[in-house]
Amino acid sequence: MPYVPTSARILPGRSQKRIVHIWCQHCEHSLLFSVTLRQNGVVCAGIFTDCEYEDAKRLLFGDKISVDDVISVHAALQFDNFLEMR
Ligand SMILES: [Zn+2]
Repeated sequence: MPYVPTSARILPGRSQKRIVHIWCQHCEHSLLFSVTLRQNGVVCAGIFTDCEYEDAKRLLFGDKISVDDVISVHAALQFDNFLEMR
C-alpha cells in the first residue's frame, strides 16, 4: 500500500478532553475525534467531516450563534433573493 500523507493537528484546549483533526491527502477527507482521558482509560469518538482545521477551530471556539442570528436568517429566507442580500 502506498504511503498516504496525512496531517494530524490537536485543537487548542487544556481539559482532559482533546479534539484532534486529521486530514488525508489521498481522499481529501477529514476526521475529527475527541480523546478523553478518564481514570479507567481513554475514550475516543470520531466523525468524518469535510471541514478543515481552521473551520473546526472556528466552529468549536468562535462566536456562538445567538437567537438574534437565527431570527435574522429566518427573516432573510422569506425573500426569493436572500442569497443576494447583505
Ligand atoms: Zn483518505
